[in-house]
Amino acid sequence: MTTVGVLALQGDFREHVEVLARLGVEAREVRRADEVDGLDGLIIPGGESTTIGRLAVKYGLVEPIRRFIAAGRPVWGTCAGLIFLARDIGGYDQPLLGVLNVVVERNAFGRQVDSFEVDLSVPALADVTPPEEAERPFRAVFIRAPAVKAVGPGVQVLARLPDGTIVAVRQEHILGTAFHPELTDDTRFHRYFLQMIHAPVGGWRPVTTPTNATRAEE
Ligand code: GLN
Repeated sequence: MTTVGVLALQGDFREHVEVLARLGVEAREVRRADEVDGLDGLIIPGGESTTIGRLAVKYGLVEPIRRFIAAGRPVWGTCAGLIFLARDIGGYDQPLLGVLNVVVERNAFGRQVDSFEVDLSVPALADVTPPEEAERPFRAVFIRAPAVKAVGPGVQVLARLPDGTIVAVRQEHILGTAFHPELTDDTRFHRYFLQMIHAPVGGWRPVTTPTNATRAEE
């Protein structure tokens, strides 16, 4: 059974837990260091990145999460979670995991547009999108959102706003989105993350099993 942890210090962790439950995955709320052990993947939710970072320090979670990521376990940060993962967030002084090779700007969209929704084209979601919906964009919800200002080597850009602003990235087993897929009915980003964990995901694509031919060659 696949168990996905959701860092539950502050923010909208319950929404992630609900989506995971809908996808048939066991979700564990993580508040203590020993709860990181044995997870197959970890989601860091949106909320307030300063608070999440400070509480993570207070509860001794920073090093266990860094070790978890260094061991190659998939992690996904949404919004404040993306900020917490980043290597560089400019002038702010707050605890960061510093594992994702990007420069992130907090509250990048200013007060006038604290929140907005936009349709994104995300080619990386093709594997979790039924063929008949291949053109369907991903409706992304941004709430006092950050933006990725620069990406370092090894970071793949998964989505941009129409003006070119980078809002979703992946660096090997580290996924970051500036928006909140857990606040919509579209479960494709969660499925995409579960694919990174190699978890069987219920969906349109059948789970592939080795054919007799490949078995015979083993
Ligand atoms: N503005 C928040 C921060 O800087 C992030 C907002 C969110 O997670 N929705 O931490």
